[in-house]
Amino acid sequence: MIGPAGRGGRYASVVLPVPVNRPYIYEVPDALAERVVPGARVELGRWLSDYYGAPLGLALRAILPGPLWSAARPAGPPPAAERLLVLTRNGMDSLLERERRFKRAPKRRAVYETVEALGGSAPVSHLVNQLRLSRNSLEGLVQQGLARIERVPEMRDPFAAMSSPPPPTLTEDQRNVVAGIESTPVAVPVLLHGVTGSGKTLVYLEILRGVVASDRGAILLVPEIALTPQTVARVRGVFGDHVAVLHSGLSDGERADAWRALRRGERLVAVGPRSAVFAPVQRLGAIVVDEEHEPSYKQGSVPRYHARDAAAVRAQLEGARLILGSATPSLETLDQAAQGRIRTFALPDRVGARPLPPVEIVDLRSAPRVEATATIPWSEALDSAVAGALERQEQVILLLNRRGFATFVQCPACGNVPGCPQCAIALTVHQTPPALRCHYCGHEQPVPETCALCGSATQRLRGLGTQQLEHFLGERFGRARIARMDLDTTTSKWAHHHILERMASGAVDILLGTQMIAKGLDFPNVTVVGVVDADTGLHFPDFRAGERTFQLVAQVAGRAGRGPRGGLVFVQTRAPDHHAIRAAAAHSVAQFAAAELPLRSPPNPPYPPRTGLVRFVVSGTDHAWTADLAERVAAWLRRASSARLDGMLTVLGPAPCPLMRLKGKWRWHVLTKAAEPRVLGRVVRAWRAKSHRAVMVDRDPVSLL
Ligand code: ADP
Ligand code: ZN
Ligand code: ZN
Repeated sequence: MIGPAGRGGRYASVVLPVPVNRPYIYEVPDALAERVVPGARVELGRWLSDYYGAPLGLALRAILPGPLWSAARPAGPPPAAERLLVLTRNGMDSLLERERRFKRAPKRRAVYETVEALGGSAPVSHLVNQLRLSRNSLEGLVQQGLARIERVPEMRDPFAAMSSPPPPTLTEDQRNVVAGIESTPVAVPVLLHGVTGSGKTLVYLEILRGVVASDRGAILLVPEIALTPQTVARVRGVFGDHVAVLHSGLSDGERADAWRALRRGERLVAVGPRSAVFAPVQRLGAIVVDEEHEPSYKQGSVPRYHARDAAAVRAQLEGARLILGSATPSLETLDQAAQGRIRTFALPDRVGARPLPPVEIVDLRSAPRVEATATIPWSEALDSAVAGALERQEQVILLLNRRGFATFVQCPACGNVPGCPQCAIALTVHQTPPALRCHYCGHEQPVPETCALCGSATQRLRGLGTQQLEHFLGERFGRARIARMDLDTTTSKWAHHHILERMASGAVDILLGTQMIAKGLDFPNVTVVGVVDADTGLHFPDFRAGERTFQLVAQVAGRAGRGPRGGLVFVQTRAPDHHAIRAAAAHSVAQFAAAELPLRSPPNPPYPPRTGLVRFVVSGTDHAWTADLAERVAAWLRRASSARLDGMLTVLGPAPCPLMRLKGKWRWHVLTKAAEPRVLGRVVRAWRAKSHRAVMVDRDPVSLL
């Protein structure tokens, strides 16, 4: 922000990126003068600060990318050569051979199976430094002839030179929707509610093309995980060099370059996840938020903004059109649409008149299971569908939203479950590499052979995780080529893309994984989709548990039957009558909303979208101190409500958070609700002025754990 020009030079009232609310006055050095633009996107920053109760400096920091805060452009490292460990697969296709070779070498086995899960090759530095696998075991594998080391140039950005043929012509439905959106007044936000496979991307691109043709700029927001080569190629196919792709793999220097090109107007279109909502696109004409229901649009640190809502504000400030798209819109957006604040356009059918795949709900309590595997929820129905698909050389996608090998280990004698010493949560059993791990803080300890409490010598694994499912599938479908995609197989830079490329090229028969595989993927040869356990998130103590389950199951179901061979979906559950499962099986958002909204409306305690919500989380190392501070926060809120807000604020708690201990800290929370957004705005701003380091304020939280 530049204040009035002083006599001796220019002065700027500068807001520092620190949690302080008072601006400092600085003289603007000549070298920086041209970089300081009066009022540049400061409105948006103010809104972030005022709406979310974040200090202005931190709000502005979110708007500028890190490297631009320092004057000099950091010199990127020269492209280096990298050492890759590549598996040779010498006779390792049979499980028996594998057992024989690794019988006395569990560490080598761990390395081998980790690299296998990573797609057959991985940088040595990643295996040793990040995954902490033993260097000796790596070398052992090489000596055994099971792997070799290759020197390759550092992995290239797979987006760098990506393009695809020009897009197909629009279908009549798509054309009608484009025409409808373009004739809607710019100030009216639009929801594109199109079923999975209805070709929403083509609609976005067509609208953005119109924007660019009139020499205006545009932003396309996608969830990080959907920023695949597939998506990027489609966008490049239309906009060529006019597009800046702001993916998370960019180095600081590359990111700064991309932002400069946008600011100078050399590129008019920005594609990226959450933070791309702040991209300095010139003459902004439209912002598209794809998969607007995605929780990953919410930022997890201050300012805790939701990119969809920030996009709405930015579009309004700059006179741009806002388009939200989803097959499973959030209840918040549906509510806005019902109130007439958003205009809805529907694409109720798939491209090419392909039907949505039929979904069979498999009741795990009674359905016949495959005999040999009573401990794994694997029904005969799903089993024969998978076998059939493999026989016909079609592909299969299996969702299990729980990584690791088993959910926890339990002593059958005394019931003891090893938990994380830092967090109030059971440790997850991992096998590649073997360890008990905490999924919240990363704590790791060896898998116990005997019970730490009673000494019992047998320990039982409970709850199926993706690693175990992969192992099971390997035994059951010995010839199938299986790829697993979850947080553990995608830690290295482009692993996610490599797995999807192998899937696209037909080198994978079964793709299994967590929620990562549920969205956006478009593989026409996938004819069977199985949800192995639909209930993993259904009973979380969070009012959105049902909505998340509905979205996850409906989205993954939408991956089946995108080609001429059609498709089938199997949803295994112990809650076959739950409205989230039923509605997902019917691919029906309306059915879900009709059942879910009453649960969030009076006489039940109201929850969004029926009320606004702000969560105060207090954390500290001392339990009594934490509980006491939470009590004082609640008391302050109650006083504020009765003294200044006409009692329009409902205060719940304090209560321990469902995750009561995390990374060594105790956690308590207080929830506040108000129907009037203005009331919550006053509360968060009043708190911003008080602010306390141990208290985190989260407006419109996407998780209550
Ligand atoms: P959604 O995002 O709505 O699930 P996509 O945008 O991924 O759907 O499109 C689904 C598939 O249909 C893609 O393979 C896409 O290339 C194809 N498609 C979309 N529009 C057309 C069209 N007009 N003609 C032919 N194919 C199309
Ligand atoms: Zn025991
Ligand atoms: Zn932990």
